[in-house]
This record gives sequence, structure tokens and C-alpha cells, in this order.
Amino acid sequence: PSQKVAHFERDVWSIFTPLAVETKAINLGQGFMNFNPPDFVQEAANQAIHDVGSNQYSHPRGRPRLRQALAKSYSPLFGRQLDPESEVIVTAGANEGMFATFAAFLDEGDEVICMEPFFDQYISNITMNGGVPVYVPLRAPAKAATENISSHEWKLDINELRSKITKRTRMIVINTPHNPIGKVFDEEELIAIGDVAEEHNLIILSDEVYDRLYYEPAKQVRIATLKNFWDRTITVGSGGKSYAATGWRVGWLIGPNELIQYSLAAHTRVVFCVNSPCQEALAIGLEKSQDLPYFQDQIKAYTKKRQILSAVFDELGLPYTVPDGSYFILVNTTNVQFPNNYEFPDILESRAKDFKMCYWLAKEIGVVAIPPSEFYSKENRNLAEDFARFAFCKSDDVLEDAVVALRKLA
Ligand code: GLN
Repeated sequence: PSQKVAHFERDVWSIFTPLAVETKAINLGQGFMNFNPPDFVQEAANQAIHDVGSNQYSHPRGRPRLRQALAKSYSPLFGRQLDPESEVIVTAGANEGMFATFAAFLDEGDEVICMEPFFDQYISNITMNGGVPVYVPLRAPAKAATENISSHEWKLDINELRSKITKRTRMIVINTPHNPIGKVFDEEELIAIGDVAEEHNLIILSDEVYDRLYYEPAKQVRIATLKNFWDRTITVGSGGKSYAATGWRVGWLIGPNELIQYSLAAHTRVVFCVNSPCQEALAIGLEKSQDLPYFQDQIKAYTKKRQILSAVFDELGLPYTVPDGSYFILVNTTNVQFPNNYEFPDILESRAKDFKMCYWLAKEIGVVAIPPSEFYSKENRNLAEDFARFAFCKSDDVLEDAVVALRKLA
């Protein structure tokens, strides 16, 4: 194998998703839904698959109808008229959009600032493109070990961020709402980050795939709308998260043509274009959502899901971070013990304690969670070893079943 992939460890998703299947445990691991996209999106997909025009290659930028629908839906949220011809690109999931953007802007040895914990795919996307991730921590207050905190209490030290910048720094990655913390960055925090980017002429890659999922009183602020950060920001979005269609792999980039033309150049050479019928279906979905309270209803539904799942951690006395956005709860598992002599498979040998905890939870408690040390650099993995990430993007009855199963921990 190439140096690029030879050092990859088995990723957390391909350990814990198969484990959920094998153990028949309730899967609150990888963030995907156990329910279908809304009817109007499914119907649109059915229709699209029968339409000759929807079954062939799309324009590399994305199907015009989807780009128009995105421009219409996002222009008010960005406070500017987005040009569907030049400021929106449809990508093969948010992930490929990020990969293409790193390919577009990184030369060998260029550095990218990532906040730790991070969504793991960033790191491999950066290194496969010759870049070097540089980490700056989000820190929780000490009381998080014994009581619930708000995700907003996880803080970035802006001077620490500034101290990480070198001559080789090219980009900074923001993730809001944040996976796995659920933090929604506020305007002041985003301005501080944007100012640093401006001082050092950095490109901002703002991963906002959970942008439609935030909970009162939090609200989604987009760094691209603050000061003149638009000029240096590429915002990443996801159809899968907003329409319960994570397997469709349809995401998008929004940003100034001066920047995203280069993401497009890379994207065209990686996938050329994205699967057409699903683009068509999401275009119709977005059009219809304009006249429906779809996103508002979704937030209500997820607020309830968050409540159902978090209640059991209160009951069990396991402190957690209350997420302001996304669909993850990061739980402190210090008070949960697995037997000393428990047998773990070899692949977990080299991993932090949270991998063993999550394996044991799947096997013995019947609930799959994700060990968050995957979201830390090797040096800092120990910071995550007493945590587990639970996803609540599941139907209420499955969450209720998970609650019953987790009560075995009492
Ligand atoms: N975003 C999803 C999660 O964090 C996983 C996506 C993936 O499997 N790479 O659970």
C-alpha cells in the first residue's frame, strides 16, 4: 500500500456498525437513521428513477434544479443572493466535498488547523492530500466529570489557536453544530476564529452538515455571514442529515466562485458528478420544504429524541454534555465498569479504554455507542477514554428500547 493509507487503523465505523449487526444490539453508534426520508422526498426519488433525464450523468457542479433549490433555500440563511451557477456545488456526500476542497488548496506539507475532538474523516482527507493536521483543543470545564454541562461550555482558547499558526498554515476547519460534542458556535466565537483566519489569510472550511438540527435557545450562525468572511469561507452541507438519507451521498459546498472553482476542479476529477436521481429527489424535497414547516417539525422531533435518550443518563447518574445541535450525546462513563477479565478481540488491543467500553456495552448491555477517542489525535486519545457517544437519530420506540437496555447499568 501507499504511505498514504498504510498507517490507517481499522476505522471506528467498520468495527462498530458490523458489531451492531452481529450482536443485534440497538445501534446508537454511527449517525444514521432507522427511518425513511419524508414521503415527499421518497416519491420524488421514485419519480426520478423513471425519468430518462435523471438517470444519466449530471453536470459536475450538480443538477441545475438542485443547485437552484439550494440557492433558494440557502440565500436567506446566508443573507445574500447565492448564484446557483457559480456559488453552489453538489458533492458525493459532504465528505467528498471536503476531500475535494483539501485537494484543491493543500500542497505537500501544508497545515490545516482542526479542533480536537474532530470528525475523524477530516484527518485522512487532509493527509491523503499531502496536508498536515494541527490540533487545537476544545476543552470542557472540570465539573463535566461530575455533572451535566451544556455543549456551549466546551471552549476554544483563541490564543492557543493563534499559537498553532505557522508559515505553512493554509486552512482552518470549523464544525458547527459539532460532532461529537453538539456545540453550536456563537457569533462571538466565530468572529474570533474568522479574525485569526483573516490575519493569516487562511481559508475557512466550515462543516455545517447538522445545520438544520439545533435546539432552543441555540441557533445556527454561519461564519460565512459574518464580517467579510464570505470571501474566504467554503461551507459544507448535507442532504443525508436533513432528509434522513445518509446513504444517498448527496452533499454540497457553498462559497465564492473564486474558491469553490478549485474544489470543483478536484471534485470533477474524483467523481465527475454525483448520482443523478437522488439529486433530483432532493431538489424536489427542498422545493417542497419551502412551503412546509419541515425543518421546524424536524427540530421538534429531534428535541423530543434528545429528551428520551438523555433522561436515562440522568437516571443512571452518568454526566453528559447536553448538545445544542446535531444528534449526538457525549456521556461520561467513568462510573460504568466492565469486568477486569472480560475478553476483547485483538483489534481492540491497541485502542483506548473507550473502545473496550463500547464493545462491552454492545455485547452485554445491547446498545452500540461510538468510542470518541477516534476523534482525537493519538497523543490525546486518553482524554476520551472515559466517554461514549450515543446517537439519537432513531425512531422514538428504538430510543425507548435503548433506555430500557441501558437501565441494566443501574
Ligand atoms: N457522520 C457520521 C457519524 O459521525 C458517520 C459518517 C461516516 O461513517 N463516515 O456518526
